[in-house]
Order: sequence, then structure tokens, then C-alpha cells
Amino acid sequence: MNSFGFEIQKDNTIEYDKNDLSLAAFVLRHEPSLYNCIQCGSCSGTCPASAISSYQFRKMQLLMRRGETKHLREDVAHCMLCGKCILVCPRGVNTRNVIRQIRIALNMN
Ligand code: SF4
Ligand code: SF4
Repeated sequence: MNSFGFEIQKDNTIEYDKNDLSLAAFVLRHEPSLYNCIQCGSCSGTCPASAISSYQFRKMQLLMRRGETKHLREDVAHCMLCGKCILVCPRGVNTRNVIRQIRIALNMN
């Protein structure tokens, strides 16, 4: 079969009832601007860490808010706290502080 460089994604069930949402609640409590995110991806598009790794702020915080935190620690370790993502966010999300709060919650500071 020909490969066109993309494929249909596998089914994914989000287990909101079973996942631990306490970390997301902590981050949202300390940085409520994250509620304004519209998943546009501008942050990931401008992020220097995304250019050299699989890390994406947009995806990382979406998974965190779903309670899917398996790769969260290694994800946020890629961030250099440069702040470029804040400059391009159309919704005024304080992305840098979101990452900072995640690191605090994970005892990475
Ligand atoms: S602060 Fe982190 S997430 Fe934002 S652009 Fe810089 S490296 Fe990327
Ligand atoms: S740029 Fe702002 S609104 Fe867009 S995905 Fe990133 S945090 Fe969300």
C-alpha cells in the first residue's frame, strides 16, 4: 500500500472518570488563563524546543487536562522558559507560568 506520510489515528478513549485530574486542577488554580486556550497551536509553532524534539505545549497541556500525565515530566523538561509562546498566544495564556506550575507540582524545581 502507498504511504502518503499520514495515517488515520487509532481510537483513543479519554478516561475522565478514572484519570487523576488533581495536577490539572492545581495548575488551573494557579494559572487560570489556561482556561482561555483554544488549541490553536501558535505556541507550538513558535517554540524552539518543539523544533528539535517531539514536545509541544499545546498537546502537553491538553493531555495534562485530560489527566494523561504519563509523559508530562519528560515533556516539560524540554521547555527552556524562553517565553516566545506567550508573545504569540492570541488568548493571553501565561504559558510560561503554566509550565512553571507543572514543574512545581512535579517537584522539578
Ligand atoms: S517557554 Fe517553553 S514552551 Fe514556550 S516557546 Fe519557550 S521553550 Fe517553548
Ligand atoms: S497559543 Fe495560546 S490559545 Fe493557542 S494553543 Fe497555545 S496556549 Fe492555547
